[in-house]
Amino acid sequence: MSNEAAVAGTEQSVTEVAGNGAGAEGPKFTLELNQDQKDIRDWVHGFAEGVVRPAAEEWDEREETPWPVIQEAAKIGLYGFEALGQFFADDTGLTLPIANEELFWGDAGIGMAIMGTSLAVAAIFGQGTPEQMGEWIPQCFGTPDDPKVAAFCSSEPDAGSDVAAIRTTAKYDEATDEWVLNGQKAWATNGGIADVHVVIATVDRELRSRGHAAFVIPPGTKGCEQGAKVKKHGLRASHTADVHLDDCRIPGSCLLGGKEKLDERLARVREGKSAKSQAAMQTFEASRPTVGAQAIGIARAAYEYSLAYAKERQQFGKAIIENQAIAFTLADIKMEIDAARLLVWRAAWMGRTGQKFENAEGSMSKLKAGEVAVWSTERAIQILGGNGYTREYPVERMHRDAKIYTIFEGTSEIQRLVISRAISGVQVR
Ligand SMILES: Cc1cc2nc3c(=O)[nH]c(=O)nc-3n(C[C@H](O)[C@H](O)[C@H](O)COP(=O)(O)OP(=O)(O)OC[C@H]3O[C@@H](n4cnc5c(N)ncnc54)[C@H](O)[C@@H]3O)c2cc1C
Repeated sequence: MSNEAAVAGTEQSVTEVAGNGAGAEGPKFTLELNQDQKDIRDWVHGFAEGVVRPAAEEWDEREETPWPVIQEAAKIGLYGFEALGQFFADDTGLTLPIANEELFWGDAGIGMAIMGTSLAVAAIFGQGTPEQMGEWIPQCFGTPDDPKVAAFCSSEPDAGSDVAAIRTTAKYDEATDEWVLNGQKAWATNGGIADVHVVIATVDRELRSRGHAAFVIPPGTKGCEQGAKVKKHGLRASHTADVHLDDCRIPGSCLLGGKEKLDERLARVREGKSAKSQAAMQTFEASRPTVGAQAIGIARAAYEYSLAYAKERQQFGKAIIENQAIAFTLADIKMEIDAARLLVWRAAWMGRTGQKFENAEGSMSKLKAGEVAVWSTERAIQILGGNGYTREYPVERMHRDAKIYTIFEGTSEIQRLVISRAISGVQVR
């Protein structure tokens, strides 16, 4: 091959490859946000800065759901199914994590009071029929004048990490075409104060997690009551409580996905074939990058605060940031946050574009972001010294809030289990 031909050949292959990447429309891979993404980011940031932050300390101390803030969010269209739909509509998948990062940058407790509903919505969206989505998702949010919240109830006193150990039962009553639920749910965000509860229950305990199904408990259903409200280390503006289900009867139509689909799935499992879906696990898989983005919001808030403080605070006649020990810590915090965000964006993009999480990339994103949030907020306290340890400064609240991100939606250990199994194919224990 002549040099010219070789060059021409190279050009051709570049062009062919560029069919996927570059070309008339420009490069496909970009980290530059489009105008819609920037607009939503700035809009949520404005709300976080103007409404959420000023209220953060008060609601953390009160340990109550900040209904007035939820109402404000609903009034401007930030809390509601249209907003969530708008975030989700972005086919790059990035808008949902971007919006979450901004809101939780404002405050994580209030952020969770606003976003807690979305876990129940994700379950309905992931497993419901179109009719069920149309009926229940709007009810999860209520209206701007009268907003409501929803709860997703999977965990139980003896079934946290071990989701398969769920004991809450759902029995079908053919005579009335109703499901009867019995059991106790633990640590449910919005549990008992929600209008709509989505409950994971077992219809066949022998099948472990493959015998689970998700049910909607409509507002005001008898036999669905709040148990003890949990007093927490952080995220205190978000309500967490047990939920008791005592002969709780719901219409047959409240089984997400419908009975026919469930019966088909159970039959497949009993025949030894693989089940395509496991109710709780599906919800978690879809929501992990979003949860990671919330952790990044907290970490970024602590980073920004401690950076500004380090430039201001004088000791030994100079700003403390002039010491490498402080400056390098801040450099590491910034780098870790950016690295975590890239993992979150990758997983969100993969989820939205239907790529298979071959290496548990969703779990990776949540694991990294959660650990970065805990570490960064702890370092931020150190940078603020004594002030960092007091309630006069926000970084101790951020640290308390961050800690939950290595626990809920799968602990860090469970994420490592999921990742190690995915990369090795070995049933690591
Ligand atoms: C504020 C808050 C909000 C929550 N919101 C919700 C909600 O809305 N809905 C819901 O369903 N649940 C919710 N949860 C529950 C949460 O998901 C669980 O707490 C979590 O899954 C861990 O379960 P556990 O607490 O029972 O811990 P355990 O499972 O008892 O774990 C205890 C420790 O053992 C480790 N461990 C367990 N198994 C293994 C293993 N195989 N290998 C290595 N280490 C292991 C864990 O990593 C952890 O460190 C919430 C919890 C909190 C605190």
